[in-house]
Amino acid sequence: MEDLRARTTLFCGVIAFAIALSMLLRGRRSAHWLFAAFSTCVAFWYVSQSLAGLLEDPARSRFDRATTVLTVLLPQFAVHLFHSITPLETPSAPGARLPKIAAIVGIPMLAVAVSPFERAGGPIKALALGGVYLYVFGLLAAALTSLWRRGEKSPSRAIRDRIRFLAAVGALAMTFTLADFVAFLGVNLPPIGAVLAVVFLFVLAESLTRPRLADLYELSGRLLVSTALAFALAGIFYGFITYIGRFGEMYLNAVLVAIVVLVLFEPLEHEFETRINRFFFRERYDLESSVVELRRRLAHTLESEEMIEVVIAGLERSRRVTTCAVYLRDQDGNGFDLVGAIGAAPPNRLESLAMRPLLERLGLSMSLEDLAREAEAPNAGETMAPVLTAAEALGTLKSSVLLAVRGDSEELVGLLCVADDRVKDAFTPEEVTLLETVAAQMGVAIANSRIYDRMKERDRLAALGSMAAGLAHEVKNPLGAIKGAAQLLEEVTTDGAPTNDPTVKEFLGIILEETDRLNRVVGSFLDYARPHAGNPVPLDINGAVRRSVQILNSQKSDDVELRLELAEPLPRASIDPEKLRQVLMNLVQNAIQAMNGRGRVTIATSSRRAPRSAWITSPPSGNSGRLPPDDAEVVEISVADTGPGISQKVLKNLFVPFFTTKEQGTGLGLAISQSIVQNAGGSIQVQSQQGSGTKFTITLPASDDVLATPVPTSIAPSAAPAGE
Ligand code: ADP
Repeated sequence: MEDLRARTTLFCGVIAFAIALSMLLRGRRSAHWLFAAFSTCVAFWYVSQSLAGLLEDPARSRFDRATTVLTVLLPQFAVHLFHSITPLETPSAPGARLPKIAAIVGIPMLAVAVSPFERAGGPIKALALGGVYLYVFGLLAAALTSLWRRGEKSPSRAIRDRIRFLAAVGALAMTFTLADFVAFLGVNLPPIGAVLAVVFLFVLAESLTRPRLADLYELSGRLLVSTALAFALAGIFYGFITYIGRFGEMYLNAVLVAIVVLVLFEPLEHEFETRINRFFFRERYDLESSVVELRRRLAHTLESEEMIEVVIAGLERSRRVTTCAVYLRDQDGNGFDLVGAIGAAPPNRLESLAMRPLLERLGLSMSLEDLAREAEAPNAGETMAPVLTAAEALGTLKSSVLLAVRGDSEELVGLLCVADDRVKDAFTPEEVTLLETVAAQMGVAIANSRIYDRMKERDRLAALGSMAAGLAHEVKNPLGAIKGAAQLLEEVTTDGAPTNDPTVKEFLGIILEETDRLNRVVGSFLDYARPHAGNPVPLDINGAVRRSVQILNSQKSDDVELRLELAEPLPRASIDPEKLRQVLMNLVQNAIQAMNGRGRVTIATSSRRAPRSAWITSPPSGNSGRLPPDDAEVVEISVADTGPGISQKVLKNLFVPFFTTKEQGTGLGLAISQSIVQNAGGSIQVQSQQGSGTKFTITLPASDDVLATPVPTSIAPSAAPAGE
């Protein structure tokens, strides 16, 4: 038994050293140093006990003395360390005077420990030893009690749980260590105290380096995995040394073992973790396996409805989630709409404005319970008030974990809220990280579904285009015939003389007018359905604007003033001249119509540098794959009128094909203009205020930045472009 005791304490001493070292490797703040000092003291204490047991006199008595000195030092470190775990706010807080008392009592005890008291023999030795052990356990008990009491005073439930747990394990370790020392009463128990003390050190180290220790499961899991791993690796080591030991070369053996251990470490750790989680922590295992399955299925979804179903069903299957809600941001970014949920009825919509303080703090995820605790802390301050108000908007989801679903450029496109209402702090940090991977994959799935939608739309438009071309052909020919016949009828009557009947004349006029209109609509529709890239060349934009205005000037009434404000010099922009003219004519004609033929239209050009994301809507067609750089030179052409402006309702549908407010309108002008500009790699924006006019701004990338657009070899960049 004596031998087992010596070996176990040596073993525990070495582990305590390793724990001290690992703490210093994790950080060098004062808490880390204090812990390392305490742990090293424990390590020396056990090593010296063990050596005293293994060696013979006089070395034995030297280690006995070292053990006694270390015994006296141990509670001093413990008192300071426990003190630093929950700093005291007031001098009257429990245990505030403990470090001072410990120091006062410690000095005479140290004197006893270094004095040759054992030589006095008999009652004096027993008294000295009794005094030292009373001092040690009295002080340790006081330190643990004050730690517990201070923990109980903490407003944070997480801290309370953590301290309770620490104090309980500490008390257990201390009680068994005390039992170890009843040895001197003649009872020799196995040294369970030493093993428990090491467990306590491990738990303490974890609790100091982790923000939360409410999750006891996780901690015990880690402990079990580490122990199992240690046994497995030790087994490998033992096997090597025993069976290949006859190599006679210890160093070579050690290298071999190290290689085997390195190779096996990760797979073994994974294997142990999976098995231990499956047997001991079923819930965690269920969540993990559901998430793996969920992510596998997510990778194959293209439709966003299907994605939402997969996520909700997957989380529900884990049996760890009682409430789950998925929100997606609406088109204009004003809020998030509920698109799927299970559990307690969550709000149908979250307004961006109301949620802003909360969303600004949201990185990948946020536990709303942690947030509430943070707000309870005495130094939380005013800043938390708006965040808490924003959290109120979440209604029944108030205690959930909020996960950010982010799109391509990290913008927030959705929210995933997950809660288990049956327990507090339902998800451990590791589990939250697991859920974060789900949210991240949702972001990818949303981006993919948008690309898929665009592709579907493109295919739909292509089908529409070819159908329109066929239809136009079928409609245009008879239309031409009807118009020709009507014109002929207008000129002649059946007896060969011109008709004078006013009713016939009126009806013929209507036929001609309506065929013209139908022709226009069919032509516009054909225009919209066909691709608009045309033949883009690096174009002198000012020149193109002047030519368009020349044509417009000849058509407009005197009550309309067309003003030009052209910036010189202006970089060229790559676009088909005919197409740009079509866009300009359309914008100016719209402006004139909006002003009821009376007012001023200002056409201005300018250039500036702008971030690509601020203006680009789609890559230029015919682009060989190179996009303009992030911050690029752009050319802007604006058409501003002094008309009545556009109402919010109309503004929303402005670019929607066939949307018109005019009796004779086709509603295709702006849709075609937008698609022409987008095909040239630019965008078109509108600013309008009711009562004070409207301004359309076309933004095109300057030619130098769109080198990828093929320029016909016959046109040198400096030569006047075709169509000028
Ligand atoms: P259409 O001119 O055939 O109606 P458009 O697509 O060109 O089709 O325009 C759609 C609608 O946008 C118009 O019906 C009009 O209500 C509105 N609109 C366009 N330009 C202006 C403007 N400058 N001022 C006010 N409303 C405008």
